[in-house]
Amino acid sequence: MDGKLMDRKLNVVRFVSVDSMMKLVLQIGVEQVLADLAARIEADFRRWPCFDKTARVASHSPDGVIELMPTSDGGQYAFKYVNGHPKNTRDGRQTVTAFGVLADVETGYPLLLTEMTILTALRTAATSAMAARHLAPAGADTMALIGNGAQSEFQALAFKALLGVRKLRLFDIDASASARCARNLQRYGFEIEICPSAEAAVMGAEIITTVTADKANATILTDNMVGAGVHINAVGGDCPGKTELHADILRRAGIFVEYPPQTRIEGEIQQLAADHPVTELWQVVAGHAVGRCDPRQITLFDSVGFAIEDFSALSWLAGELDRSGMFAELDLLADPDDPRDLFGMLLRAEAA
Ligand code: NAD
Repeated sequence: MDGKLMDRKLNVVRFVSVDSMMKLVLQIGVEQVLADLAARIEADFRRWPCFDKTARVASHSPDGVIELMPTSDGGQYAFKYVNGHPKNTRDGRQTVTAFGVLADVETGYPLLLTEMTILTALRTAATSAMAARHLAPAGADTMALIGNGAQSEFQALAFKALLGVRKLRLFDIDASASARCARNLQRYGFEIEICPSAEAAVMGAEIITTVTADKANATILTDNMVGAGVHINAVGGDCPGKTELHADILRRAGIFVEYPPQTRIEGEIQQLAADHPVTELWQVVAGHAVGRCDPRQITLFDSVGFAIEDFSALSWLAGELDRSGMFAELDLLADPDDPRDLFGMLLRAEAA
């Protein structure tokens, strides 16, 4: 018997729909998922040299970008397909959507195909908070959150779960986005203030998260808005020609990045000379480099999102599927009895 007719558990590809992902996250609890993901990402950053690394492959168009993000640790291979189209929200679509695959390196067979729009928001927030644990001033409990779109609640909850942030100062050019963000976060015990400007939002904040979407060299923060000792978590600038910070801030800050060859193209540091010094975050995590070195230092995590974070999220998910069974089995791989008789399988299907 061919294909579906025989027991082929070994060849089954697990599929996680948006619905299954939501059920899984709600069953575990969002803050617990963020903490688990941060731990997984941190562990993978500690073994950074084990991974294949390449700057993501980006296809740019006037309104956005479509990217492929591959990596492997030699045992498993992962890639994510992700887009970034800031204009999408105008007609009811999301700025960022994604799906991803985890595969077995030994056979090359895919193991898992999953939605990654929700998983990307979770892994991005977990990475931000993990970085801030190494970089933010000790005891920080107030965060300015500028840009209150799809990523924003995830960012807020990651900083609560990992750093104990309790006070949020929200700003978005669209007041309804801030109102929605505040409403969604109501039950999580934050003290929330919606601010009339970015300048007002950063007042008294030890951490500033910028997570806006605009395909432009925007200036969400100017130099005078950033005082000594602040940690900036810059998430929204992640494409050539798409940045959030004035370059003068970068010149005053200790800058921490994921993978320099990618961040130099896509991050805030695209505004600086190609040899401007930066520290790789994995070096800090692994204890090879210092994170924050002075209470008055301005630290900047120039986040663009790197494939290893998606690998961590996918391998975390694979483990959770073993436990929860929250997946469907996908008929994705052709499986003739004789592996070389692919055409015969087609003929037998016709006869049946
Ligand atoms: P979104 O479109 O849902 O939300 C963006 C919000 O920013 C909107 O509410 C918009 O009104 C607001 N905004 C735009 N310009 C602003 C300004 N000048 N001041 C204040 N607010 C402004 O987008 P999203 O899914 O939340 O993503 C936000 C950004 O994060 C995008 O640019 C996306 O590409 C980026 N992103 C980065 C990573 C990463 O790993 N670094 C991961 C995911 C998304």
